[in-house]
Amino acid sequence: MKTVKAYAAFEAEKPLGPYDLERRSVGAKDVEIEILYCGVCHSDIHTARNEWGGSTMYPVVPGHEIVGKVTAIGQEVSKFKVGDTVGVGCMVDSCQKCQNCEADLEQFCENGMSGTYNSYLQDKKTITYGGYSSSIVVTENFVLSVSDKLPLEGVAPLLCAGITTYSPLRHWNVKKGDKVAVVGLGGLGHMAVKLASAMGAEVTMLSRSPEKAKDADSLGAHHFELTTDPKNMKRLKGSYDIIIDTVSASHDYSAYLNLLRTDGVMVLLGVPPTPEQIHATSLIFGRKSLAGSLIGGIKETQEMLDFCAEHGIVSDVEVIPIDKINEAYERTIAGDVHYRFVINMASLKK
Ligand code: NAP
Ligand code: ZN
Ligand code: ZN
Repeated sequence: MKTVKAYAAFEAEKPLGPYDLERRSVGAKDVEIEILYCGVCHSDIHTARNEWGGSTMYPVVPGHEIVGKVTAIGQEVSKFKVGDTVGVGCMVDSCQKCQNCEADLEQFCENGMSGTYNSYLQDKKTITYGGYSSSIVVTENFVLSVSDKLPLEGVAPLLCAGITTYSPLRHWNVKKGDKVAVVGLGGLGHMAVKLASAMGAEVTMLSRSPEKAKDADSLGAHHFELTTDPKNMKRLKGSYDIIIDTVSASHDYSAYLNLLRTDGVMVLLGVPPTPEQIHATSLIFGRKSLAGSLIGGIKETQEMLDFCAEHGIVSDVEVIPIDKINEAYERTIAGDVHYRFVINMASLKK
């Protein structure tokens, strides 16, 4: 075991603070990573504040958008060497033998994947701790290769926000000319805009925040529509093939389903703390689908990182020292994020 520096949430209502964490020794198939940057996902906030049905195990060390350098490898590791630039996303292990794992869908592992934090390793006993820390030890199959060509602070958010938006765009086969709408311009939303426009789609940003219109344009959105204006919502009826919903708070799904074309699909990515209601007619008229999508498998995450390297896509980030994390949470909740906070982990060592 090795003691490493970290930041943890100790209770739902209290700010995060310093925490000494025990990391396991490097096993035969393990990679030890010095964490350089870690993105701040809204899921970190939901978890730190115990907003998902009381599922948080305190103290929790959030962070699942991790980029760093390999500092040690186990004797059976073949894919990585010391000094490589690597990433870790939302999962650190899975059973590797069920049907879903065999199909590169480890996020749906039938025996339960191991989330990067607030979860259990495959022994179902050892609690996992995330990337708000100076280093992490991960089995090599869940470590991703990262290109040195892109700025690493901008790459970190690809490990969650990037793959979570890339995966449904691919699954629903978004292609040139498709009309894609993205709801909510935050961490996930801004990646959805960049990725969908790189895939050739005609992208509309649906936002409640008029001041984000200019940013949506520079991110690659072709249109910006204010969702708080009922006239807009009426005019846009039947407009989109696919809607990617990234909103983190409770909202009316039916209002957005109304904007789909016949046979259109709305994919839920945001996980509001409370359940929503929809009327069956919102789907029946127009044979519409309401779907969901969870991050992406490891193979697809590597494909997404390679796609981003090829297209020069990174996240737009505001880099912060770790002691600004509580302020960053408040600003994220207030929608004041452009468009991902990323922690410079060097600030933890001081
Ligand atoms: P974020 O950066 O906070 O962005 C969320 C955006 O939603 C905001 O910027 C805002 O955009 C909009 N929004 C927030 N509150 C709203 C409200 N009350 N009404 C309408 N719009 C509102 O969050 P994120 O990190 O992108 O995460 C978004 C959600 O996805 C979270 O619930 C997170 O837990 C979840 N998530 C899911 C997965 C998955 O695998 N499915 C993976 C990662 C995260 P505008 O100001 O433009 O309206
Ligand atoms: Zn996330
Ligand atoms: Zn499995």
